[in-house]
Amino acid sequence: MSRIAIFPGSFDPITIGHEFIIRRSATLFDKLIVGIGKNSSKQSMFDIDKRLQWIKDSFINEPNITAIAYDGLTVNFCRAQNANYIVRGLRSFTDFEYESAIAQMNRKIAPEIETVFMLTAPEYDAIASNIVRDILRNGGDVQQFLASGVRI
Ligand code: ADP
Repeated sequence: MSRIAIFPGSFDPITIGHEFIIRRSATLFDKLIVGIGKNSSKQSMFDIDKRLQWIKDSFINEPNITAIAYDGLTVNFCRAQNANYIVRGLRSFTDFEYESAIAQMNRKIAPEIETVFMLTAPEYDAIASNIVRDILRNGGDVQQFLASGVRI
């Protein structure tokens, strides 16, 4: 049985912190699908096609990494993709508190799906898409924080 994992998020835009988690977790699975959730309550800065293309371009040389946009519950998307793992990245204790609540709820509704946490590298633990968006809104240069395929 092949091991398929989903790395869900908004990726608005995808950062080098996301890229680190994706590259490292892709070594643990046969296939890693980066899932862009469409129904987030968050208002996005970049449209879904752009976010999807940036992810695809970042991992163009990695045949086991793909990107797909989805609607609805992440666990339902996992089931539709035959994925038994959800990967989430952890930067801080605040991330852990938020992520553990989601993972426990997901376990209740989909016990066959395992959430796997991966720690970020210290140099990426302050990198967050929302801060990148704030810098952009104020005319700053964010290139150093973005994944390799992003063209803003
Ligand atoms: P969400 O809107 O679901 O929080 P994000 O796109 O912000 O989605 O993040 C998706 C995942 O990436 C989450 O697990 C988040 O903790 C993780 N993540 C975000 N930034 C970093 C980073 N700098 N290092 C490691 N993981 C990160």
